[in-house]
Order: sequence, then C-alpha cells, then structure tokens
Amino acid sequence: MNELETPAQPLFCKRCHAEIRDTDNYCHACGKSLKPGQGFLFTHAGIILMGLVLGPFALPFVWMSKVLSPAAKIIYTVILLIVGFYLIYSLVHIFTLTKQSMQLLLGNLSELENGLQSVQSLGAF
Ligand SMILES: [Zn+2]
Repeated sequence: MNELETPAQPLFCKRCHAEIRDTDNYCHACGKSLKPGQGFLFTHAGIILMGLVLGPFALPFVWMSKVLSPAAKIIYTVILLIVGFYLIYSLVHIFTLTKQSMQLLLGNLSELENGLQSVQSLGAF
C-alpha cells in the first residue's frame, strides 16, 4: 500500500510482477486489482450483498471501502449494527425459550416419574 504512494520508484504487480503505473487501477498483465478497497465487494452492491449474507461481519468491507462516501459508511454501519443486535437478541430469545421448554419438559418427566412410583407402590401394597 505504501508503494503506491511513492511514485518515484517503479511499481510491480504483487501477483505477476509486471511493471505497473501508479495511476493503474488494474494490472495490465494479469488484471489484478491494484487499488485495495475498490473492488466489487467495496461498492454499494457488494456491501449490500455481503450484508445480506454475512450481516455485521460485512462491516470491515464498509470501513475499508474507498468507493463509499463517509455518509454512506455511517448509514451502512448503523444498519449492519442494528441487524447484528437483532440477530443476537433473536438468538438469546430462542435460547431462553428452549431453556424454558426444556425445564417444562423435565418438570413433566419428574411428575410422571412420581406418578409411576406411586402406581408401583400401590401395586406392591
Ligand atoms: Zn499482474
């Protein structure tokens, strides 16, 4: 990344080592993107797509993007954080419900056991 800011030295593609110009967005030899943060994943479409798939894990792409405006970054960050909190809240809610139903089930089982025991003691009597 620093090499791109020192145009005095010749630049080389990191993938194929062909010489490249400071102004090149892509390597003319192999097509590698030379400007980090400017690929498809950093555009609006890429960020929205990743937000749908990854949720809050798409945040690093939002912050690394050099395509999005600062306002757009803030909006995407807020949306992804809301989605993230909602996901965590849902998971906790599902966990609590599962725990409650398990306790209910276990409670019923012990009641059933008590019932069986009293039936058995009746039979023995
Ligand atoms: Zn190349």
